[in-house]
Amino acid sequence: MAVDQKPKRGPQAARDMRPSPIHFEIADALAKRPTTTQTGLGTPDQVAPTPGILANEDNIVFSTVKDLVSWARSRSPWPLGYGLACCAIEMMASAASHHDLARFGAEVFRASPRQADVMIVAGTVTHKMAPRLRRLYEQMPEPKWVIAMGNCASSGGEFWDSYATLQGVDTVVPVDVYVPGCPPRPEALTEGVLRLREKIARGG
Ligand code: SF4
Repeated sequence: MAVDQKPKRGPQAARDMRPSPIHFEIADALAKRPTTTQTGLGTPDQVAPTPGILANEDNIVFSTVKDLVSWARSRSPWPLGYGLACCAIEMMASAASHHDLARFGAEVFRASPRQADVMIVAGTVTHKMAPRLRRLYEQMPEPKWVIAMGNCASSGGEFWDSYATLQGVDTVVPVDVYVPGCPPRPEALTEGVLRLREKIARGG
């Protein structure tokens, strides 16, 4: 209302005093506008969270203790700190900061087979080493898994005709995942760990 207008009285004045629709829109926009989208800073996001399957009262989750245990095991495979040749350098790199195997729960390389459940055979296995490798495997508690890392561990690799080299570590221990390459890059080993996680989660 302009300053030179006479104030109205009665029902017409009450109608004029009501805020127009545009006022409501501005107020709503201000109320809904988040000051930041970063969690933990400013006001919380105004977007309602999508109800998860566990948070929704209309749903019931069926599972078994076995599935739950397999899922938990798959998220924390602990490898045995055990390298045999050049592939071991790539294995070490996979656990270092750049590739960060910790993202998948597998960075805790144990110095004792009693505390490990994954043996990563990283390198050439000689006939002389094979009985020791088998002993380390037997000292690991059940359940346990083996990754053959690199061509040497998988099939003898470039030493395929060597009198001294084991033609695949699966001749002395059961292998769950083969990672090809000479040497496999850290990303390849990470992929192998992810495949192993899938297998463990399925109860394998
Ligand atoms: S696969 Fe290649 S890099 Fe790995 S241990 Fe054998 S020779 Fe070395």
